[in-house]
Amino acid sequence: MKKFKVTLTPVTQYVIGQSVPCEKKVEFNYGLYPTKKFVPISSIKGLLRTAAVYSQGENSCEFVTSRICRGDEDLVRTCSDIQDMFENLSPASQQCRESLKEYRDKFSSPCIVCRVFGNGKVRGKMRILGDNVEIKNLREVGNLRFSYNFLESRHPKYEGLKVEASNAKVEFEVLCSDHECEKLLREAIKVINNGLVRLGRFKSRGFGIVKASLTEVTSR
Ligand SMILES: [Zn+2]
Repeated sequence: MKKFKVTLTPVTQYVIGQSVPCEKKVEFNYGLYPTKKFVPISSIKGLLRTAAVYSQGENSCEFVTSRICRGDEDLVRTCSDIQDMFENLSPASQQCRESLKEYRDKFSSPCIVCRVFGNGKVRGKMRILGDNVEIKNLREVGNLRFSYNFLESRHPKYEGLKVEASNAKVEFEVLCSDHECEKLLREAIKVINNGLVRLGRFKSRGFGIVKASLTEVTSR
């Protein structure tokens, strides 16, 4: 078992938020108390998992399904979803079903991303420790423009959206139960550092570019 500390240092600000349509605003994520804003552990796990998927390409179920099951991504995403589809437990389009046949065996024992991060049927080898990461000193960024209706359908164009963004470092610890987990974690970190995967929302607006560093804390 090894424990690592991961630090995400923002290059551009990031937004992890919930929409407030009447105020034309995206507030930074909070739970029960709006005064306490935080980055949920689930967002961190999502970032690492997405980066891991990119690092594995065709060897990852999610990479393959996102390429060939467009429109079915809600049903078929992970190795466990693919298994369910072939056991007729979940519906999927004919095209998705046909195209996935050649991958059926490959993903019948879960892919490396599912082995490490888990899926509906498999418990993962990685654990992200700690609580949601509290964020202070948020900045408001105003006047974001969109060419589509971002929050409401009534306005033809969305002008002047405000977002709460942060440039605070995010630190958390990760527990890896074996070498495969560590290997995938290191590869995911590389993908984040290459800028391929970003944190939070409005990535196409330049938000959420981070640098990630990894240090080993203890091993036993
Ligand atoms: Zn998988």
